[in-house]
Amino acid sequence: MAKIRIVYNAKGCIGSGHCVLSDPYDFTLDENFHAVMKEGREMGGLNGGVWVKECETEETHLAINAARTCTPRVITVFQQVEENGRQTWRRL
Ligand code: SF4
Repeated sequence: MAKIRIVYNAKGCIGSGHCVLSDPYDFTLDENFHAVMKEGREMGGLNGGVWVKECETEETHLAINAARTCTPRVITVFQQVEENGRQTWRRL
């Protein structure tokens, strides 16, 4: 089981829908065909419009495929790893 963090910048979404096809567990579309992160939380302040979700999964390829198929590259996936005895995040 891997712990992953998905970061989605909704301000750059062009509504292609690829993320939903790749990862319907973490993304859906709103009425304007823009992606919505399921169970994500929106960051505040200057990072408004950026959504974050952390979860444990054995299906990391789903979020990775969502990120790779997103044309404007507004989805990023990290995995929690241990380095030098401390927890950190590595981009997938
Ligand atoms: S793949 Fe990217 S551009 Fe397309 S709907 Fe998803 S977040 Fe938006």
